[in-house]
Amino acid sequence: MANKFELSGSDFQEDKYDRLRLIPWWDQERLANAKVMVVGAGAIGNELIKDLALLGVGRILVVDMDRIETSNLTRSVLFRQKDVGRYKAEIAAERAMEMNPDVKTKALTINIIDDVGLGVFRRMNVVLGGLDNREARLAINQSCYKVNIPWIDGAIEALNGFARVFTPPDGACYECTMTDMDWKLINKRKSCALLTHEQMYEGKIPTTPTSSAIIAGVQVQEMLKILHSDRGLPTLSGKCYVFNGLTHDSYIVTYQRKPDCMSHDTYESIEERPWSARTMTLLGLVNNIKKEMGEAAVVDFDRDIGTFASCSCGETKELFTPIHKLSQQAITCPKCKKSMMFDSIHSLDGTESFLHKTVAEIGIPPLHIVSGRIGAKSTHFEFTADSDKLF
Ligand SMILES: [Zn+2]
Ligand SMILES: [Zn+2]
Repeated sequence: MANKFELSGSDFQEDKYDRLRLIPWWDQERLANAKVMVVGAGAIGNELIKDLALLGVGRILVVDMDRIETSNLTRSVLFRQKDVGRYKAEIAAERAMEMNPDVKTKALTINIIDDVGLGVFRRMNVVLGGLDNREARLAINQSCYKVNIPWIDGAIEALNGFARVFTPPDGACYECTMTDMDWKLINKRKSCALLTHEQMYEGKIPTTPTSSAIIAGVQVQEMLKILHSDRGLPTLSGKCYVFNGLTHDSYIVTYQRKPDCMSHDTYESIEERPWSARTMTLLGLVNNIKKEMGEAAVVDFDRDIGTFASCSCGETKELFTPIHKLSQQAITCPKCKKSMMFDSIHSLDGTESFLHKTVAEIGIPPLHIVSGRIGAKSTHFEFTADSDKLF
């Protein structure tokens, strides 16, 4: 009877994924080729990134703009005492590559709400959320639906949590699940307008490394099923897995798509162009889009951009920042300290006074997608030249 000792030396090169490959539907090569974005590198994000690294997910993009605090250390398997003060995304990305050199990670220490181009989302197989606020979830949801990429949300509180999967274009989306209370809370924040980043994120909830491990585990398992979508596995698409760690109850909630939901604006086609948001001027953009679509075409952005602020005292100032990012300080008059009024735009027709600015200078991120519109017809163009910096 043959035994292991008769095998040649190379047969002893163990495949570290061999226990995973025992799962009948498992295809490790798909994981190796997968690109997954993790938004939020907190309690859930740490667990997500750890699981993705262990599983050999080839490309992991970590998006988080916060720094590590001492209180994070009790719920974050990837962080050490000496990391306090450093960016969560950078440390998490570093540690994931240490855990498994097969994976390549990249950290983006930017705000998910305005700073991640739609072309980044579009290049992912799945987006995983480890977030603690509705604004960020809504932003991810809108981006994922525009470019038709599934995303998996997770949330925890004390011993409880839930995980849910949103699959564009048809299934119920995050916005479909929002209650009147959710909207009230978002609008309240918007109407006390222009909160600082610190104020936006001040809501603290109790979280544990145990509930984050459970919920992140469910999220990653759902991701595995999405990556093997041809295997006919049951998924949580349009559903929520609710886990109550206190009473050991768990159950599934099925969401209904709301007919009037605004988030199902999936782009039918996206034209890749060798343009860079970093270097192209607004004039260049307007001209290019007119060349593509005709002289009457205008450029539409997916956000409102504050342009000029003016004060009753006569002082004026340039903003050129998406409205969402305007701080109270940005619209405070430098002379008399009163709040200034400001104008905003979300499209260009070529008559503007600031067309010498670059696309990036008005707050459009690299690899983003903008729309050309003529009458009711829109075509979507990507700043594809920015894709070289992604991984
Ligand atoms: Zn919806
Ligand atoms: Zn003033």
